[in-house]
Amino acid sequence: MATLSLKKLLKVFGSEVRAVDEIDLDIPHGELISLLGPSGCGKTTTLRLVAGFLEPDSGEIQMDNEVVSSGAAVVPPERRNMSMIFQSYAVWPHKTVYQNVAYGLKFREVSAHEADQKVKKMLDIVRMPNLGDRYPGELSGGQQQRVALARALVVEPGVLLLDEPLSNLDANLREEMRFEIRRLHDEFNITSLYVTHDQAEAMVTSDRICLMNHGKIEQVGTAMEIYDKPETRFVAEFVGVTNSIEGTSTSPGLFDAGGGLNFKMGNNGAGGAEGKHFVSIRPHRIGIHTEGTQIDGADGLNVLDGEVLRGYFLGNAADYLVKVPGLEEPLRVEGDPSNFFPTGSKVRLVIEPDSVIPVRASEG
Ligand code: ATP
Repeated sequence: MATLSLKKLLKVFGSEVRAVDEIDLDIPHGELISLLGPSGCGKTTTLRLVAGFLEPDSGEIQMDNEVVSSGAAVVPPERRNMSMIFQSYAVWPHKTVYQNVAYGLKFREVSAHEADQKVKKMLDIVRMPNLGDRYPGELSGGQQQRVALARALVVEPGVLLLDEPLSNLDANLREEMRFEIRRLHDEFNITSLYVTHDQAEAMVTSDRICLMNHGKIEQVGTAMEIYDKPETRFVAEFVGVTNSIEGTSTSPGLFDAGGGLNFKMGNNGAGGAEGKHFVSIRPHRIGIHTEGTQIDGADGLNVLDGEVLRGYFLGNAADYLVKVPGLEEPLRVEGDPSNFFPTGSKVRLVIEPDSVIPVRASEG
């Protein structure tokens, strides 16, 4: 059982890099939460603070309601009941797979027999029951990472920390190991903090995603919440592809994009704001039809006429850039490839108000 709580956590490097800028985050027992964001947003620094490798400037970290880090004192990493997995695997090359996994148990009060049982069970769980005598140099990258997972889990830590654990693997293996990490999490239910800059990895492995930007948290939510209800422009643009349009809310549910264009909005955006802000419209939420098509219920919809600047046939989808008079940027639209509109086609676009999501500008 372990809960983690980060309270107004601050870490400044030098005199001005606010790598982690007063963040608050509560992680309940058994949750796998990923820290996602672009390079330099503060993910690794947050993880290192939680591990106890770094001291915060202010704020605190609590594990099971006990303070383990604050500006005044830091419990050292080895006394935190946490395990960490690194992108470099960090398995010992001169020890066998069995010895690598057994190593952590040396410092626990476990009999030799019990340790042997635990190691064998762990090797079964990570699907390497017959490779205990191999050395890491005789294993693939994916197998080495499984050894690292087994070694981290065999000590039954309260919290598991994972620092870009799949980034050294090739694309196919990376995809396979995402599901593997999720499977192991479902089996052990260890409270886990997972650092990645890969959105698909975060979406597959995590219960919730914490999206960071410039040392701050932009939004915390399930993959679906982050994707369908982004609160800021940064979140909408970082996760998936979107159209961001700047404008002003003139009355409830109506967004003036300038140039004589008004969009009807649903009330499903958590980032809804009065006055000047942005809306986010995902390309696959825009219907594309032949010019002049009569649209049923057009009064309750957004209907825009435009011209295909570029049309790409992708096999499973069709990708368009559509110029709409009054909008500065062309709209990115994803359509059904069986009804393809080549470059130069005049088209009619239809957007449900619920697909026009109001989002705030980001603070960072
Ligand atoms: P990446 O995905 O590239 O690993 P990240 O999100 O993990 O990035 P951090 O490594 O936490 O980002 O870095 C956050 C900020 O702090 C960056 O601006 C980085 O340059 C700075 N930083 C990190 N470690 C140090 C350090 N030891 N000394 C000075 N600045 C640092």
